[in-house]
Amino acid sequence: MLGPPGAGKGTQAKIVAEKFELAHISTGDIFRDNIKRQTDLGKQVVSILKSGALVPDEVTVALVKDRLQQDDCQKGAVLDGFPRTIPQAQALDGLLADMESNIAIVPYVKVRDEEVVERLSGRRTDKRTGKIYHIKYNPPPHDADLEHRSDDQPETIRERLEEYHSKTAPLIAYYSDKGVLVEINGEEEISLVSANLLRAVEAAAK
Ligand code: ADP
Ligand code: AMP
Repeated sequence: MLGPPGAGKGTQAKIVAEKFELAHISTGDIFRDNIKRQTDLGKQVVSILKSGALVPDEVTVALVKDRLQQDDCQKGAVLDGFPRTIPQAQALDGLLADMESNIAIVPYVKVRDEEVVERLSGRRTDKRTGKIYHIKYNPPPHDADLEHRSDDQPETIRERLEEYHSKTAPLIAYYSDKGVLVEINGEEEISLVSANLLRAVEAAAK
């Protein structure tokens, strides 16, 4: 899943993973989990996530390599938030070639920067279930145990958007050249985005 922060990658990745019985790999979730558990990796990346910068490629690639080898990835996986740089994408090509696997589709969820700011400012996640909500667009149930991500603050959102445009957006051309990119309008409502996305994934899986 490719797209700016706040495009709805996490929201949609969960839906696709469930529908096609695939593993859902969110590098952001893995980093946040390590930060919470205060592991060595967590200590290494905590200040990077707080600033909105990207974690070094070697660290991120090693993590994904390990994760892709776990049993639940046998049937495939939805990669959410990875790759985020050209070197990561090249490393992923290598990993997949070694595993005799390939990329079926790269859905590019397109959303304007102004909308990103609105979405991230209102994003809340449930600490217990990991479900993603929005105070206006996808309101949480009353019994949710909500958390506001520390990197969803205006200053950090700006930094993350800059990182996205300079380092991640070049992947649009990278995957378009490989013929696997499918653009999805991320500004429709969640159920319509999923319907379009599921249709594209089904077509790609054939
Ligand atoms: P990403 O994983 O790309 O950073 P999320 O899936 O966490 O994005 O979504 C960011 C925020 O936008 C969340 O608050 C989510 O509820 C909300 N959101 C996701 N998709 C849509 C949509 N199509 N319309 C409105 N809000 C959305
Ligand atoms: P996300 O949950 O996808 O919004 O990611 C949150 C943060 O985790 C990012 O701002 C980065 O600091 C870090 N991160 C997640 N995925 C990657 C990646 N593929 N490469 C580098 N940093 C990442």
